[in-house]
Amino acid sequence: MSFNRRDFLKIMGGSAVALGVSGVVLEGCKKALMEAAKRTNVIWIQAQSCSGCSVSLINTIDPDIASVITQHISLNYHQTLSGGTGDAAVQVLEEAVKKHRKDFVLIIEGSIPTKSDEYCTIGEIDGKYVGAREWLLELGRNAKAIISVGTCAAYGGIPGAKLRENGDNPTGAKGVQHFFRDKTIVNIPGCPPHPDWMIGSLVEFLTKGKLDLDEYNRPRMYFGKTVHEQCEQLPDYRRGRFAKKWGEPGCLYLLGCLGMDSNCDIPKRKWLGGVNSCTGSGSGCIGCTETVFPDTGSRGIYKHLKASADEIRNIENAEIRTAVLTLKNGGTING
Ligand code: SF4
Ligand code: SF4
Repeated sequence: MSFNRRDFLKIMGGSAVALGVSGVVLEGCKKALMEAAKRTNVIWIQAQSCSGCSVSLINTIDPDIASVITQHISLNYHQTLSGGTGDAAVQVLEEAVKKHRKDFVLIIEGSIPTKSDEYCTIGEIDGKYVGAREWLLELGRNAKAIISVGTCAAYGGIPGAKLRENGDNPTGAKGVQHFFRDKTIVNIPGCPPHPDWMIGSLVEFLTKGKLDLDEYNRPRMYFGKTVHEQCEQLPDYRRGRFAKKWGEPGCLYLLGCLGMDSNCDIPKRKWLGGVNSCTGSGSGCIGCTETVFPDTGSRGIYKHLKASADEIRNIENAEIRTAVLTLKNGGTING
């Protein structure tokens, strides 16, 4: 993988300085430089996805996506970014399977249907459609590593939402880890994931050979802390200054912000090269990096706060407790 020192620092450094992990950066940088002569093959499969993770990937600013896929990695296959189309593109996958290639990292975007392969097919062989699940099982067997990008690939996400009363979803959508019980799948959740999380994790894995993962297999470097503990609004929370309707200044907890239950570094890293964050922009955290997303139960910004009696008793802040009780008793906190 050919990252030079400047590129590596661009990816890892900005956030690392903000997050105070300069030791990690220096260590990673040394190893990245040692690996600088190599290029890594990547096969990227889009299954049941909206392509939002790929859109987020191409928003990478430093280095830009053109240099990532032309200089730093060898992107063998990607449904929307590959130069080749049709049979020529599918042949790349076919050959990787037939030749038992082991020289690539497999990246999956989107959930995998389990009820029928017909819900998501990629290309055809001898006139027969091939399901995303079939490609995944074949390619995943020999891949150097499997990385799930986005919450759909990690945990089922939106296609896996429990739409029906029995907790079912129409396609039986599952996250990639469901298919590989004996392998560690790196999960980079988010709806979408930040481009730094995707490229930074790939660099980290290729240079160190492993990633420090949390209990949900997310890289700790990006998902080690809650949104709440890094939030721009934390001083307001501590002072008891809460927004009671959208657009008001203050902590967004009463409007359903899930920052306390969600892990990611967006309040520090921010989107679009540092423009703003979910909480900083006043829209709150919807918990998109969590295993339960989008089924966030009785909480979340679409439902306001409907805490149980036990949860209310456990709320230490008197102002929050009063507001939650008001909501629970049918009142409104707006205005
Ligand atoms: S806006 Fe959300 S994440 Fe930020 S302090 Fe309030 S509850 Fe915590
Ligand atoms: S702050 Fe919340 S909504 Fe925004 S990316 Fe992180 S987990 Fe998702």
